[in-house]
Amino acid sequence: MDRRAFNTGLAATLLARPAHAASYRGPNVILVRFGGGVRRHETIDPQATWAPFLRHELTKRGVFIPDLRIEQLDGVSTSHAEGTLNLLTGRYLAYRDAGSKFLTDRLEPTEPTLFEYLRSAFDIPSHQALLINGEDRPQEEFFTFGVNDHYGIDFRSEMLSLHRFKLFKTRQMLAEGGLDGAATAELQKQYAALQAADPRDFAPQQSPQIEAFWARWRAHYGDDGFRNPRGDRLLTELALRAMAELQPTLMMVNYQDPDYVHWGNPSHYTRAIAVIDEGLQRLVSAAEANPAYRDNTVFVITPDCGRDANPLMDVPFQHHFNSATAHETWAVIFGPGIVRGRALDRTVDQSAIAPTIAAVMGFRATSAENRALGEIFL
Ligand SMILES: [Zn+2]
Repeated sequence: MDRRAFNTGLAATLLARPAHAASYRGPNVILVRFGGGVRRHETIDPQATWAPFLRHELTKRGVFIPDLRIEQLDGVSTSHAEGTLNLLTGRYLAYRDAGSKFLTDRLEPTEPTLFEYLRSAFDIPSHQALLINGEDRPQEEFFTFGVNDHYGIDFRSEMLSLHRFKLFKTRQMLAEGGLDGAATAELQKQYAALQAADPRDFAPQQSPQIEAFWARWRAHYGDDGFRNPRGDRLLTELALRAMAELQPTLMMVNYQDPDYVHWGNPSHYTRAIAVIDEGLQRLVSAAEANPAYRDNTVFVITPDCGRDANPLMDVPFQHHFNSATAHETWAVIFGPGIVRGRALDRTVDQSAIAPTIAAVMGFRATSAENRALGEIFL
């Protein structure tokens, strides 16, 4: 970006920022991506579910939307980054390739995300607008802010992921010194590789609150990388610690492990669904036990995309062929202000999720294609 473009962007940012952003008094929102692509059959079919807490308990606490769909058919890809950005922006195709020869699927939003709307409307620090991401998806580090003129980096969310922790830890170890020449060189190599995976990581740095979070994490789990939980259990652990230590107002947890079915057998997929269900139980219990969240938190649980249902495929459970079931998801929304025990008997478009979360929190997702689901509110 040249200086003129930078100054133009800066001016737009300053104009967009309210003189005195209001203090936030609405509920917290925890958005759970039941991700890695799941089919309705293994999640919300009452007889076949591998997520009994979700299906039999949480659906009763609020509004159950059994027929949420990725309605856009032209040009849309039913995949993880795309579905996640549909949820965060309330638009389809509101992303562009962030540009990398080494990693595919690296998309950045071209319209504002929920985090940016929230932080431009209310005085909420970045560490309370949080994304919790999987360890092997640095491409999702791009979701913290969009590239549009009026919002962007000043209103970004912060990110907790193992990738971020490794960056913190490696930088700290280099700063601490005390290693011999070979060990230092190896560490410098690791640090360069981590940086290369996510060039946006360093502008800006993570906030002091997030750095302190990682310092406590490192003190607890150490440097060897073998003691912390892995996979989606790690995401649950990060989310629970974030709720206890950072108290995010808006937090999105990007579960992903059902996607391992691309490479493994179907039991990896069904086990991963059960692990997310256990994670949901822990998140909901933690919200009930914490005065900052109790009776003051709306949960929105929804997949990024569906999966193929064709049993004749050589490799079943894929989601890249734009089949009807890859467009079929669902949602469960519950918490204060939300109708209890209602199942919506109509098709709802995935692009309605973002404006609905905006309505819960008291701002408008002005670039969303859809409107909030008015019938879910008390
Ligand atoms: Zn996949």
